[in-house]
Amino acid sequence: MNLPTESECAERLKELVLERGLRCKCNDTRGFYWLRKKACFECKNRGCKATLYLKGLTRMRGSKLPFRIWLGAIYLYVINQDVTATEMQEQLGYDTYSTMWELLEKIKTLDAEMPELQERYKREKDTNLIPNHLLELSWLGFMESFIVREPSEVQNGIWDWLIGF
Ligand SMILES: [Zn+2]
Repeated sequence: MNLPTESECAERLKELVLERGLRCKCNDTRGFYWLRKKACFECKNRGCKATLYLKGLTRMRGSKLPFRIWLGAIYLYVINQDVTATEMQEQLGYDTYSTMWELLEKIKTLDAEMPELQERYKREKDTNLIPNHLLELSWLGFMESFIVREPSEVQNGIWDWLIGF
């Protein structure tokens, strides 16, 4: 499968997170340094220097897997919700079956949380319009025509969904 490189994934995800307006809990307005090697932000306030890991800001928090594996796995799940861990392993060229199995379960769990998040969003915003990052993945795939596009072409949709806010 043709996936962007790990640093391309991190770079794109970083930009999308920044677009949402990242704010440190110290409330400093100077923003962040981007530490590329660690894929994390560091608060520019020298008295704070808090580090915010890119993964920790998203639905990928706690995961040790590369961004590109998440991207590829979600893509495969979106185009076929019956995809198996073995198929994922082959398509993504990933060695460990158990890791792929866990990832697939994690994606299913996240996806299953969407209806509840949608309801909460509708109540809080008093609207019936659901943003793409709260769609169930099958719907996201339908809306963004995943079936006829490459992972790199639909990655914004996947990253937005993973950022989740
Ligand atoms: Zn700070």
